[in-house]
Parts: sequence; C-alpha cells; structure tokens
Amino acid sequence: TQNKKLSLTARVILGMVLGILTGFIIRSLFADTAFVQDYIVNGLFEVGGSIFIASLKMLVVPLVFVSLVCGTSTLSDISTLGRLGGKTLAFYLTTTAVAITLALTMGTLFKPGEGADLAAATSFAAKEAPSLGEVIIGMFPTNPINSMAQGNTLQIIVFAILFGIAISAAGKAGERIASVFADLNEVIMKLVALLMHIAPYGVFFLMAKLFTGLGLDAIYNLMGYFLVLSCTLILHAVFTYGLMLKMFSGLSPFVFFKKMEDAIMFAFSTASSNATIPVTMETATKRLGVSNKVASFTVPLGATINMDGTAIMQGVATAFIAQAFNIDLTMGDYMAVIMTATLASIGTAGVPGVGLIMLAMVLNQVGLPVEGIAIIMGVDRLLDMIRTAVNITGDSVVTCIVGKSENEMDISRFNDPKAGEEDE
Ligand code: ASP
Repeated sequence: TQNKKLSLTARVILGMVLGILTGFIIRSLFADTAFVQDYIVNGLFEVGGSIFIASLKMLVVPLVFVSLVCGTSTLSDISTLGRLGGKTLAFYLTTTAVAITLALTMGTLFKPGEGADLAAATSFAAKEAPSLGEVIIGMFPTNPINSMAQGNTLQIIVFAILFGIAISAAGKAGERIASVFADLNEVIMKLVALLMHIAPYGVFFLMAKLFTGLGLDAIYNLMGYFLVLSCTLILHAVFTYGLMLKMFSGLSPFVFFKKMEDAIMFAFSTASSNATIPVTMETATKRLGVSNKVASFTVPLGATINMDGTAIMQGVATAFIAQAFNIDLTMGDYMAVIMTATLASIGTAGVPGVGLIMLAMVLNQVGLPVEGIAIIMGVDRLLDMIRTAVNITGDSVVTCIVGKSENEMDISRFNDPKAGEEDE
C-alpha cells in the first residue's frame, strides 16, 4: 500500500468532523431550502446513514452466535467457563455500581438541577422495572431461532454456550462441527473488516443528518446538567477504567485508549453498544490481543448488561430531577436508585435511547416525577452518544482484565501499535 494513505481511524475521524461541519452549515444556511432538506438531508444522508447502521446490525447476531460457539467449544472444561463467567459478572456489576455512585456523588455535589426551568415538562409513561427473577427467566430461550430473529443477545449467549459445550463433548462429530464454526468465524470477521471500510462515509452521513437537526439552544438551557453529566462520564472513563486496568492487569491505559479509538467513534456515532459489537469484537481480538475465547463471551454480554455510561446518566439525572422538583432523597432512595439502575441495565439491550426508558423505571422506584424526563429529553441524543462510548469502553476494559487473568491475552499484540490496524 502507499504510505500516503490515511489510516482507517484517521478517515473515520475525518468523516465525523466533516459530517458535523456539514450539519452545522446546512442548519444555519439551508434550514428552509426545501431542495436541500428533501434530497440531501432526508435523502442522501438518511439513506447513507441507515445503510451503514443496518450493515453493522446485520453482523451482530451471526457474529455473536458463531464466535461464542467457537469460544466455548474450545474450552477444556466447564469449570473454566464458570470461572470466566463469575469473574466477568463480578467486574461488570462492580463497575456499574461504582459508576452510579460516582454519578450520584457528582450530582449532589454540583447540584445541576437547582433553579432549573421546568416549563418544558409534559407527560412521560414509565414502565415497571423488571424483577431479578424476570431478568433471569428472560435469559433462557424457548426457541433459539426466535431469539436470533429478535436479536435477543442474552438468549443467544445462553444457547451458544450450551451448543458449544455440547460440541466439545461430542467427540469426532463435535470436532467436525467445531472446525466449521472456526472457519465461519474467520469469514464473519473478514466481513467485519470489509464493512469497516465504508465506516468513514457512514459516519459522515450519520453526523451530517444528526447535526442538521440538533438544536444547541436546548443544551444551553440545560448547561449544568449537560456539563456535570459529560464530565462524570469522562472522569469515569479515564480514571476508573485507567486505574482498574493498571491495578488488575498491569496493562497501559494509554495503549488501551489509543487502540479503542475506532470502537469509541463507532459507539459515538451510532449511539448503540449493540450495533458496535462487531467493532468492539474486532478491537478486542485484533488490536488488544484478547483471545476469541474470552472476547466472544465478554463483549456481547457487556454490550447488553454492562452500561456504565447509562448508569451514570441515571445517577446524574435522578439527582438533577430531584433538585429541580425540590425533593429530598434519603439514603434508602439512593440505594434504590443504584439497585434499580443496575437491574434495569441488565434487562435492557444497548440500543439508542434506552437510557431514558430505564430512567423512567428508576424515577418510578424512588417516587420522583417521571415528567422530569421531558426536561432532559431535548439534550439526550448527544449525551447518549457519549455514554454509549463509555459503555463499550467499560466492556473492553473488563475484557482485557479477564483475558489477562485467564492467560488468554497476547501481550505483544496489545503493545504493538500497528496490530490489527487494517488487514489489507
Ligand atoms: N445507547 C446506549 C447504548 O447502546 C444505551 C443508552 O444509554 O441509551 O449503550
């Protein structure tokens, strides 16, 4: 290849920046030009962006299933699986609890909701938070094809693990099937790598469309909330994750974050941990050097149950709404927020905007007015993008920690700046 060519990461960044600029330009100059709105914004941008998201989502179910069957079919015994699962869950739950605690602390310290304008309040329907029992029952598929058709990641994970265990126990037949899955996995990862090449355009279209419609005055009115929330998100990503990575695995946070660039940008522009799974997987295995055995389990699981960024939003938003409505929260309320937010994050998939639905459950639980959501809804999209980036960073940190502790990590790959950059 010519060395003049920009790396994929650089092209994605370029696509993002140009998209944001284009969006702003159209917003300020062509807001009323029907031609531009109809054919460019709602035509070209919409079509391009939707195709990009669709092609990412298209990969999720086959990738999760095939890679996880591959991963479990090579496990030597069930106890390894138990240990792996236990460690991963423990880390996911701990990081989420730390995240909400941090958020509640920041929210009470900086009081973003004092004197907030409640004029925008309209009604917002809240669903009940699921019980722990419901969440667990919901993980078990009755019809695996249906789970796949609906993209129910937890159910697919359960089926893939059982299937993988059966393969490893099925002797010769199992070996043959295992090698088919190993080949399939290679092919699907190749497809991921191919689709990554359209990412710069996809990201451009998504950003251009989004920023054409994004009113910044809403953010201006909610500056306090916006700032406290985004600072907490960044704080958690940099410090909590940096420290954890160093403490539990001895790996360099700098190398880690550099390698996460692509995945972070994908998460940011799609606002969906789920749609980002292919990129997170590719990053975890090809760049960070974690084996497929670990990453095929931790990444999809994390995208579904580990949403630290979302949890942080629940914390800050709860504090904000309590302050805006002048309601005092007790210590018990805070505990209830932590519990509900953690449970709700297990039960809901990582797709755009679910954070708001979870927030409704949390507010309900502690008796805060659900209408509060209407106030923050206007600025949620941008924050959704940031918290999704935090969500998948958290998944990747835990993936590295678990991978390292299980001796399932290629450290030289982790430390090689060029590893997995682009297989030409
Ligand atoms: N969009 C987030 C995700 O996919 C979830 C949320 O906070 O709304 O991870």
